[in-house]
Amino acid sequence: MLCYAPSGAASGETRAALTPASAATFVQLGLAVHAAPGVGLAAGHADDEYRAAGVVLRDDEDAALAEADLVIRTGKPTAESVARMKRGAVHVSFLDPFNEPELLASFAAAGVSAVSLEMIPRTTLAQKMDALSSQASLAGYVAVIQAAARLGRILPMMMTPAGTLMPSRVFVIGAGVAGLQAIATAKRLGARVEAFDTRPVVEEQVRSLGAKFIKIDLGETGQTSGGYAQALTPEQIARQQAGMAKVCAQSDIVITTAKLFGRKAPVLLTHAMLAGMKAGSVVVDLAIDSGGNVEGSVPGRDVTTPNGVLILGAAGLERLVPAHASQVFAANIAAWVTHFWDAGAKALRLDPADEILKGCLLTRDGAVVHPQFVSKPAA
Ligand code: NAD
Repeated sequence: MLCYAPSGAASGETRAALTPASAATFVQLGLAVHAAPGVGLAAGHADDEYRAAGVVLRDDEDAALAEADLVIRTGKPTAESVARMKRGAVHVSFLDPFNEPELLASFAAAGVSAVSLEMIPRTTLAQKMDALSSQASLAGYVAVIQAAARLGRILPMMMTPAGTLMPSRVFVIGAGVAGLQAIATAKRLGARVEAFDTRPVVEEQVRSLGAKFIKIDLGETGQTSGGYAQALTPEQIARQQAGMAKVCAQSDIVITTAKLFGRKAPVLLTHAMLAGMKAGSVVVDLAIDSGGNVEGSVPGRDVTTPNGVLILGAAGLERLVPAHASQVFAANIAAWVTHFWDAGAKALRLDPADEILKGCLLTRDGAVVHPQFVSKPAA
């Protein structure tokens, strides 16, 4: 069985889906491992490290795709490279499946089994494969570091002979995986931290990190059976905005991470709320990849409002720490492969009854098979 890891460098990717450590795991399982030269360079791994782990480096990507039984990447491939893959092969990566019906159709047409890392169930059993979490926690950390670097103030309190510098105030909206890491990072840097989330179960987690949970009465909110937030009604959003406006006005840094799985993120920071904030304060919109929580934020761009608030449209912040992001991402994929590895047959055994597979397998045997996407016609 041949595993191939193409390079993502052409699309600006800094992370690698294969590290020397994960390659060693694959080799130990009995896989032949091939990769593009320079596959881990941006993540701090020289080609020689891969060779030492038993990887064959080759630059004939088309031929490698045609031979591989398993292709692993960080992000979605082009339809053209899917068409080059071998029928019956397996492709594992983030796929952005809610926005990519044509790509799913091309996987089905090519007879490739497409595995979407976004769709892996958030269960204890699948925790080691949870790439959404491994990347989100790094993004939460980087968000605070980026905001702190752009803020004209320090985060901790500092007593000096010339006077006391008061700690900066950080407000984190959405306290899931990214938000909790942002809270912990801001606390470690000495900021005064407040947070809000619509899922009431989060309050205790926020408090245990030493942050204050902002209470806003929104009525019934709850969460889905998968643990994700429910969409709010327009009235609830308006109440939330009113409840948060004063906290935003007092904050030096606002980090928004509020997402709704598979749907557009809610707009939580309006132009009016931004207008009420202090000049020099910094907003990081971590939900920008799914539409954004902040009015006026632009993916990958910095925007300054007329009253001097800097908004960072923080797309893919985990890519700024590619060494660690690749370490955990590659480990997530290695855990997935190990889970489905049949040691006797020395091949992947994709059991349709497996609960993890039911969650994340989108196409198989020429068809879209996942119930959430099955209505999308195959090409
Ligand atoms: P996410 O990225 O989908 O959303 C981020 C946060 O935004 C969530 O906490 C959500 O409740 C919040 N949010 C949504 N709308 C909001 C609004 N209007 N205002 C404020 N906050 C809002 O979430 P995530 O970080 O991927 O986590 C999703 C769930 O998965 C959580 O319950 C988490 O605990 C759970 N989880 C479980 C496991 C596991 O058991 N293995 C692993 C990771 C995450």
